[in-house]
Amino acid sequence: MGIEPTWPAWKAGTLPLSYTRKMVRELYFRTLSCQSCFPVRLQHNTAIFYVNSLLITDGRIIDPASGADARGDLLILDGKIAAVGGEARAKAPAEIQIFNANGAVVCPGLIDSHVHFREPGQSAKETIGTGTLAAARGGFTSVLCMPNTSPAIDNAATVVLVREKAEKSALVNVFISGAITQGIAGEALAPIGSLKNAGVVAITDDGHCVQNNELMRRALEYARMFDLPVLDHCQDYNLVSDGVIHEGYYSTQLGLRGWPAIGEEVIVARNILLAELTGTHVHCQHLSSAQSVRLIRRAKERGIPISGEACPHHFTLTDSSIAGSDSFWEADGEILSRAFPKGHPLPSWPLFDTNFKMNPPLRSHNDRDELIQGLADGTIEIIGSDHAPHCDFQKEVEFDYAPFGITGLETELSLSLAQLYHTGKLTLPKLLEKFTVNPARLLRIEKGTLDIGADGDITIFDPDRPWVYRRGDTASKSTNCPFDGWPMRGKALATIVSGKIVWQESKE
Ligand SMILES: [Zn+2]
Repeated sequence: MGIEPTWPAWKAGTLPLSYTRKMVRELYFRTLSCQSCFPVRLQHNTAIFYVNSLLITDGRIIDPASGADARGDLLILDGKIAAVGGEARAKAPAEIQIFNANGAVVCPGLIDSHVHFREPGQSAKETIGTGTLAAARGGFTSVLCMPNTSPAIDNAATVVLVREKAEKSALVNVFISGAITQGIAGEALAPIGSLKNAGVVAITDDGHCVQNNELMRRALEYARMFDLPVLDHCQDYNLVSDGVIHEGYYSTQLGLRGWPAIGEEVIVARNILLAELTGTHVHCQHLSSAQSVRLIRRAKERGIPISGEACPHHFTLTDSSIAGSDSFWEADGEILSRAFPKGHPLPSWPLFDTNFKMNPPLRSHNDRDELIQGLADGTIEIIGSDHAPHCDFQKEVEFDYAPFGITGLETELSLSLAQLYHTGKLTLPKLLEKFTVNPARLLRIEKGTLDIGADGDITIFDPDRPWVYRRGDTASKSTNCPFDGWPMRGKALATIVSGKIVWQESKE
């Protein structure tokens, strides 16, 4: 395809950079007197523009990669971080745009390593344009798209197609994962080398799971040759069969087919053994069960290249939600509800609400507690949303027939703050690690830090800001989110990509 598999080549293909470069060029050609100061400073008539440059003042600047956590300023010039702390203001040109953070947290742009944007093929559910706006509203500056589109992202041409769509419509950086197997069918390996050359940063069959252990072993061996991490949706098809809800008390009580935790744990154990055998890093996506967390904890102690991801819905909700809101608040929601503002009515939903159906399913409170413990002790290093939009008409059917999946980009940061930071389980820097430096390291992308010269991707958020999530207000094309009417604490205020404010709360 004529594309060099280099980091600069990939970066040049992402929208925010190319878009802003286009903008620079337009301004440049409209301007006659600015050639000496191109590209940072452009004189147009008498006004002076600083493109992709911003001085953020008076923020609590947290950079988990360096351990920095101090009140101060941050300067971005020409899309790159130019100064942090005392010298930022001194180095800033007089005419630069200023954003007063007013004490809010200023951190490296958040990365969500697990989203489904449905392009190509299912743009009635979501597009890269609407998905990246939802990401920006949630405080995310980079996302990793899953390859289970239609057709699947299992060849270089489809990778290029998605990149071109992102160039035209994305508000934030869009990274792409390729399929492990052709058509995500689990039968023959996808061309892993040419996927890498086309720009994918990881491979996964997410939504599906490679059942053939020999094929998975070969995939790991190939991935190692191309220095690609392998992400896995852990699901043993024979054990899970046609389960729709966690196998336990509520599956029996509600008469729904069970999706047993062992169906995930068996594949987590398989992945640990194969990671040890091949030396390839395997990242287990959206972990839901306590035993999965324990398996990964023990494997990491032995130095095996394995890691895990958790989603906010799995460490917030439980399977009792499917018996309706009264059951949930009574059985498993007491601690959550105590943190809600006094007098706020408890959110309510009916029995069999399909917005609580996802894969893997919501599990018991013991599983939820172990996920939180795993996040707190560092066993689980990454938080991802598994943002999975579906049309209303698809979700508005009997529980058995509804597709798995919920949207999550706009509630992810707030739910994580609620369950991990406001409960004292993690400090803010430790929580932000799971959204910044850890996913950047897994995906080997040059993001997630505030180093001088790093991309000027910044998230500004208030960890205490109260607000209420309304699914009708979402930027996503789909509304299949279970947290409708939930009081939240903590919210993104501005999302900055390469020095450009791509979304700002006060301008909504
Ligand atoms: Zn999945």
